[in-house]
Amino acid sequence: MNLILLGLPGAGKGTQAQILAEQIGLIHISTGDMFRDAASAGTELGRRAQQYMNKGELVPDEVTIAMLLERIAQPDANPGIMLDGFPRTIQQAEELDHSLSERNSLIDAVLYIEVPEEQLMGRLTGRWTCPTCSAIYHEITNPPKITGQCDNEGAKLTQRADDQRETVKARLDTNRAWTERLAEYYEADAKLYPIDGTGDPEAITKRLMAAIETVPVQASGA
Ligand code: AMP
Repeated sequence: MNLILLGLPGAGKGTQAQILAEQIGLIHISTGDMFRDAASAGTELGRRAQQYMNKGELVPDEVTIAMLLERIAQPDANPGIMLDGFPRTIQQAEELDHSLSERNSLIDAVLYIEVPEEQLMGRLTGRWTCPTCSAIYHEITNPPKITGQCDNEGAKLTQRADDQRETVKARLDTNRAWTERLAEYYEADAKLYPIDGTGDPEAITKRLMAAIETVPVQASGA
């Protein structure tokens, strides 16, 4: 099964994608994490991506699509993928569909996690991530056992530049435009599953799992 999690920043895509991928046995692929890893490793790709990430802009399609298609062609992606943060443009969605169809595969469902915008503002500014293992925490909904420290290896948690208050509003505005375009793209294909993203993370996971159980599986593997 190949799934996409869609939603505005702060809708809980990252947290839910990790949980769901593990429960269903899919490979969780976050293009944001891939770009951050490449930037930390100081690769050419990372340096290029960093210029756009710092400004809160999308990394150009040609770079992003090549990176993602290479990743999903790895053997470990064969049982299925859970995409988080990709696609973000119609071109990305089209090239993903094209690449999967060449392997007799497809996107089975797009889970669109919907949260009222005023709630997103509060959520986004409370999000902290681990620079070592990419674990995601939240001051209110998912705090680490010790404030400021990752539960996994005790690394000092950091707040991503793009989670800081001043950039959040602009980020929501630009994200809304492409998220709605993508929702329409997948709705036209009857693949869109809107999910209520309010409430505690366990309740949201249950709603997502319930929706996934209704998805007609047409092909398996990436
Ligand atoms: P995220 O963690 O998903 O919010 O991604 C962090 C940053 O990585 C974004 O603000 C973009 O600059 C870049 N990025 C991640 N995924 C994509 C994508 N599918 N297309 C273009 N840029 C992306």
